[in-house]
Amino acid sequence: MLELEKAIEISLDLIKPLGSQTIDIINAAGRYNSSNLKSKVDLPGFDNSAMDGYAIISSDLKQANQSNPVTLNCIGIAPAGTMPDKKIKDGMCIRIFTGSPIPEGANAVIMQEDCVHNDDNTIITSTSVKPWQNIRIRGEDIRKGDNLISEGEQINAGAIALLNATGHKTAQVGNQPRIGLIATGSELIDPPNKINPGEIYESNRTMLASMITQANGIPKIYPIVEDDLKKTISALKSALSENDLIITTGGVSVGDHDHIKPALEEIGGSIDFWKVSMKPGKPFMLGQANEKTLFGLPGNPGSALTTFLLLVRPAILKLQGASNVHLMKRTGLLVDEINNNGERRHFIRVKIDENSHVSVIGNQRSHMLGSLSKTNGLIDIAPNSHLANGDKVKVLMIPN
Ligand code: AMP
Ligand code: MG
Repeated sequence: MLELEKAIEISLDLIKPLGSQTIDIINAAGRYNSSNLKSKVDLPGFDNSAMDGYAIISSDLKQANQSNPVTLNCIGIAPAGTMPDKKIKDGMCIRIFTGSPIPEGANAVIMQEDCVHNDDNTIITSTSVKPWQNIRIRGEDIRKGDNLISEGEQINAGAIALLNATGHKTAQVGNQPRIGLIATGSELIDPPNKINPGEIYESNRTMLASMITQANGIPKIYPIVEDDLKKTISALKSALSENDLIITTGGVSVGDHDHIKPALEEIGGSIDFWKVSMKPGKPFMLGQANEKTLFGLPGNPGSALTTFLLLVRPAILKLQGASNVHLMKRTGLLVDEINNNGERRHFIRVKIDENSHVSVIGNQRSHMLGSLSKTNGLIDIAPNSHLANGDKVKVLMIPN
């Protein structure tokens, strides 16, 4: 059986990024940068004050202390937004505010709280300041022409601020993949319709749609498909023609009513692999048709969740040109015991809390939904191994 890492490698090799579009930065959060953006300005753009206070010449205050207060002559005000027209010479100061440009001749700012401003427009201070103290220096953060965000990096709120602050209104980002979602199973019913004995409510498509949206994909939900070859073929055909990638759930195992593989072959598609050595999720298929990729996930909700996160999500991110496609890891302290007596590695659903304590959430069997909502991570436990209470573990975080 194929190792998970090999399966991920094969699928990522198949996936080619979809190209890019230019959008307003206001809409760019979470998207993946696809151009080489450079700063249009220096940041800060000019030497400016980090404080409300007085622009001074630091040597004027060199001797200032409690027993030797110094008096300076305040010759004007430098509000934020305009360049000061007055120049400072020895013995002078200019009233200044946070963000105001430093007047010519000044080389430091003294805090307002360290000064007394007299009615005759003099100030008295007992505090000395070092040269360039309380001044933000032009270009100390970013220089004009500097690269701002690497290609493939995800744009977050800080990046949005940086892009606006360096003069950008738009960004070029990877296109969002359209992803068709098909659930197969003659037992499946759309909630809230009445269910008859033997039938169950369908829940995979909406679960996957929410994870696709989280990963910037655009999910499209198709009607439930009965376990029937012809109906499976026609569902695959329409989903393949309308999307960049297809995800099916159910019908990919070895049962007589598992039609995904035969349906894909019937429409001229090919199967790249089937079955990955992991639990849950052994029956997992990667195929292609019409130059589109199809991921066939197992029907059990726990298996569909885990295989989506480990095998499908990276492909969705690569389609957008993301440079890091894997789940984030957090280190935590296990407060439970875990045994894997099986021959396959097991991805255990866990909850890691704000103190980094990691506990096993509920029953791990793959049809069990009760524990899914409380899970925020997965632990990868090797075949025939044991993790003890107090062990340090790596948790693969489920993005929210
Ligand atoms: P399958 O992979 O088709 O053999 O299905 C495995 C198990 O998952 C069966 O118990 C199915 O009833 C259940 N199942 C399959 N598809 C879904 C679905 N879309 N929503 C909820 N349960 C499902
Ligand atoms: Mg089925």
